Amino acid sequence: MRVAGSITELRQLRRDLQGSIGFVPTMGALHAGHLSLVEAARECDHVVVSIFVNPSQFAATEDLSKYPRDLPRDLDMLRTAGVDLVFTPTPEMMYPPGYQTWVDVEHVSQGLEGQRRPGHFRGVATVVAGLFNLVQPDFAYFGQKDAQQVAVIKQMARDLKFPLEIIVIPTMRESGGLAMSSRNVYLSPDERRAAGVISWALRAISTAWDDGEREPARLRELGLAVLVTEPSGQVEYLSFADPDTLRERQTASDDPCLVSLTVRFGATRLLDNMLLPASLNTREGLTSTLGVSPSG
Ligand code: AMP
Repeated sequence: MRVAGSITELRQLRRDLQGSIGFVPTMGALHAGHLSLVEAARECDHVVVSIFVNPSQFAATEDLSKYPRDLPRDLDMLRTAGVDLVFTPTPEMMYPPGYQTWVDVEHVSQGLEGQRRPGHFRGVATVVAGLFNLVQPDFAYFGQKDAQQVAVIKQMARDLKFPLEIIVIPTMRESGGLAMSSRNVYLSPDERRAAGVISWALRAISTAWDDGEREPARLRELGLAVLVTEPSGQVEYLSFADPDTLRERQTASDDPCLVSLTVRFGATRLLDNMLLPASLNTREGLTSTLGVSPSG
């Protein structure tokens, strides 16, 4: 495994890679969820991973300075996972003095996380566009965990004509159902146990859908009824949206639906989602249902 610590090195090492390239952008503090993306990317001739805690996607009030970082451990994990090339730029490399170009994906960035984290997806789309230009992958792998991010990146890649395909990998969970996240280290043991309620709520909603319930208001009530059983969690939102446009669904429909929610435990915001019907939460279902379809 080669490690490129600068843009010059990355360009050199990338030139040496022949054949198809699978790319997994990350912010490090790696866990099994990240590794499932790497594993999927091994279908390509070469796997490139970036580790970059992107300052422009954090608001001033957010956790940029305390975001978990452990590069030696991350590199060990990636070496074992069979990665060919890791790119570890610094903020100064990605945003040198005088940097002034931003990628703003207008509509799908607006609701859900975009509404609660203004500027977040502008930072994400900008850094991913830069990384796509540097790595020039054929396939880029993203996690369902950040479903709105998938929709934003798909839209950006299509609008800016990046010659690549976006693949979406299902969310990896802890044994108690909690979606794996680098931020789970912020949780106390009690909070971690309590946070299992998020996946129970999703499961209850999915069961109701299987039983024929389609009314968003009714499905929301059912989900909230589960979430309130854990009073230490503060629900920020529980959304039922169109998985393509991310617009909130107002009326009953048999069309696939993206259920997403954010629950706060102490100072930690936990994000999760699932597609309905539940049979769509596979690589194939997610890749074809979340965000703009490849044909437009
Ligand atoms: P991050 O390091 O948080 O920026 O995440 C890097 C990539 O890993 C993103 O595409 C995430 O959606 C994905 N990811 C994060 N958590 C998980 C998870 N639990 N299961 C699958 N993919 C994940």
